[in-house]
Amino acid sequence: MEALDGLGPEPLSDEFTVEGLAQALAGRKGAIKQVLLAQEIIAGLGNIYADEALFYASIHPLRRANTLTHVEVARLREGIVSVLTLGIEHGGTSFSEYRDLWGEAGDNYNHVRVYHRQGQPCLRCGTPIERITVGQRSTHFCPNCQKLIEE
Ligand SMILES: [Zn+2]
Repeated sequence: MEALDGLGPEPLSDEFTVEGLAQALAGRKGAIKQVLLAQEIIAGLGNIYADEALFYASIHPLRRANTLTHVEVARLREGIVSVLTLGIEHGGTSFSEYRDLWGEAGDNYNHVRVYHRQGQPCLRCGTPIERITVGQRSTHFCPNCQKLIEE
């Protein structure tokens, strides 16, 4: 897949590094969820994986992107790679197919931890998953695992 001007690296490519992600987030004051969906940070990261990756990394979706610690950025990168890889293993053969699969209620839907699970217990701690709107996108998170830390 060719990189397009103004787009960030493909998340499963070697170009997607912790350092690169840290640098990209450092200049962003917006909510991390919204920043992740802005294609110039990571190419093609969809709404579902953004929620899943933030849950993986225990980061609140409204956290300001530029306040993430290095450890959190590393966990977030790991989360993004992990949720994408999981999706590919469960049906998608490429990143773009994976994106399509997650857009539909396919097999991969069974592997989500927070997406569309509002009101259901968190698989990690049992707290009901909450749904909020961030940048007009439906956003799901565990208020206990993903506490909002104010700087
Ligand atoms: Zn939880």
